[in-house]
Amino acid sequence: TVARLRPFAATIFAEMTELAVRHEAVNLGQGFPDTDGPAGMLEVARQAIADGVNQYPPGRGMPVLRRAIAADRARRYGTEYDPDTEVLVTVGATEAISAAMLGLVEPGQEVVLIEPYYDSYAAAVALAGAQRRTARLVADGDRFVLDLDSLRAAITPRTRMLVVNSPHNPTGTVLDRADLTAIAELACEHDLIVLTDEVYEHLVYDGNEHISLATLPGMAERTVVVSSAAKTFSVTGWKIGWACGPAYLIDGVLAAKQFLTFVGGGPFQPAVAHALTNELDWVAWLRDVLSDKRLRLSAALADAGFGVQASGGGYFVCADLTPTGRTDGLEFCREIPELIGVAAVPVSVFADDKSAWNHLVRFTFCKRDETLDEGVRRLRAAV
Ligand code: PMP
Ligand code: GLN
Repeated sequence: TVARLRPFAATIFAEMTELAVRHEAVNLGQGFPDTDGPAGMLEVARQAIADGVNQYPPGRGMPVLRRAIAADRARRYGTEYDPDTEVLVTVGATEAISAAMLGLVEPGQEVVLIEPYYDSYAAAVALAGAQRRTARLVADGDRFVLDLDSLRAAITPRTRMLVVNSPHNPTGTVLDRADLTAIAELACEHDLIVLTDEVYEHLVYDGNEHISLATLPGMAERTVVVSSAAKTFSVTGWKIGWACGPAYLIDGVLAAKQFLTFVGGGPFQPAVAHALTNELDWVAWLRDVLSDKRLRLSAALADAGFGVQASGGGYFVCADLTPTGRTDGLEFCREIPELIGVAAVPVSVFADDKSAWNHLVRFTFCKRDETLDEGVRRLRAAV
């Protein structure tokens, strides 16, 4: 393995899911649902395969899907993207993120991440030969907020790109308009490209609003929005994602994407187009179901003795080990699959400043209630 990828070894999700399988543990680590997406969408995919939609789709993605993506964003956020030049279908959000860095950031330039950050960001920065600098979220009571000073300090004359993720993995933070406005002002002041990872855009709870960063003043022309069907329609294995942005940025993403995978997910593309157009009621139902699961797991974890941070969106809740007398989240997560049959993910793997985050453990609530209850029952035995 080349030096620039050596620090990344195996992803934490692979490691923890492997441990979960080996020890037949309840997997509250890797974020993937254990129930299927909307039946109508699954049927369109089945039909597409039966109808022979099994060859390479067009390089930018099937027109029907690009049109559905553009229409969906116009309807929900008022942002207008030309399906022919400003929308690109990718192999999951993961590919969109890597291709954006490869296609838009020169080696030696800097990318600012906000820690804790989704693990693929740092690896993608390294793939591009770029340097990462990190700003951070900070705890404010039982939630997290952006530390704006740390963001200001992370930006240098070499900064090319800033990556923002809301709703946030791993903390469940939903950035509010004030934080997003501050980010936008800094991006404009320093003339940065912003990559906004909105894969959990539909999954916001407690009346929180998801605000797409591209809607803020000065942002449309500098923002690549990344999203995905994975979380919205409970199809993490389909790997249909997309990037939307001004043509000059999407051209850069495409320049890299065409040599990573060229295209992907042929028969799933019309199915996701169908879902974006016809299944948003199902998504609203999913959001309410997940919100209840979030409260169910959070209350049970608190009852079991963890300190529980509030989650406002996405798939995850973070638990503080400190009240249980433990402090090392990585050690805890490596032990518990074998010891008590539960898998979770240490938050320190999402951060450069490991010691600042090692007391936190991430649990996913995108599982059946029985699974959540059994997971917590077993956790009680460990604390
Ligand atoms: N970004 C975030 C914040 C995620 O949590 C994930 C994982 N689901 C991804 C990107 C990757 O998305 P996809 O599965 O569509 O590649
Ligand atoms: N996004 C999911 C998570 O954070 C899983 C991603 C993966 O397995 N690479 O758990």
